[in-house]
Amino acid sequence: MKRRSIVAANWKMNGNLSLINDMITGLNAVHLTENVDVVVCPSFPYLASFTAIAQREGLQKSIHLGSQNVNEHQSGAFTGEISIDMLKECSVQYVIVGHSERRDIYKESSKLVADKVACVLDAGLTPILCIGESEAERETEQTNLVLSAQLQSVIDKIGIEKFDDVVIAYEPVWAIGTGKTASPEMAQETHQFIREFLALSNAEIANKVPLLYGGSVNASNCETLFAQPDIDGGLIGGASLKVDEFKVICSAAK
Ligand code: PGA
Repeated sequence: MKRRSIVAANWKMNGNLSLINDMITGLNAVHLTENVDVVVCPSFPYLASFTAIAQREGLQKSIHLGSQNVNEHQSGAFTGEISIDMLKECSVQYVIVGHSERRDIYKESSKLVADKVACVLDAGLTPILCIGESEAERETEQTNLVLSAQLQSVIDKIGIEKFDDVVIAYEPVWAIGTGKTASPEMAQETHQFIREFLALSNAEIANKVPLLYGGSVNASNCETLFAQPDIDGGLIGGASLKVDEFKVICSAAK
């Protein structure tokens, strides 16, 4: 069975209206393999703009809008936060959850991440669940332990069956924004571990979950990374802010 491939752009706190326009025009000109979905995740203020421009200009049907975060509550006194219904009204289909910058800078716990995954799924949207180990954890050979714990807290919350609608992004923290990519072999080995760990709960689901690699993916390394048997696309930060480079990365997914 061929799993779907996904290439997602995580713009973080970058980009502007002009980049939204250029990206929509650029991506509309890319030939995407039928098996590939592209997700663009700009900051909150640009979600509605993306949708409005996409409606006006037209958008290839495999290009989707994603959010970088969501609050786990439905509504209420949470100043500065965004609810899942607000994202839905902006035509968001994917939500990045548990990015290492959220876990690290904003102290999001694995429990909170699990609550957010549940909130996204309950609304019928697709979470892109980020997991990954720090440099110190890799050096002390704790990678598999860290990844299993991050996954297990979500399995405990939603049950393995719901992973049918979850996308996982493995992002070694030491490779994010550093230019230090995991080698294709190291990335494959870790992706295989993740799939095997999920298979302990349900082999069929484990085989279907798209596993994206993230961490300094660029136009030069995307092809070899995406060619690995357990890598089903990527979560792209810095390189997704350059329209031409992101187009090359999207074209490399099969
Ligand atoms: P990077 O970021 O591609 O700039 O390393 C990836 C991410 O944080 O999702």
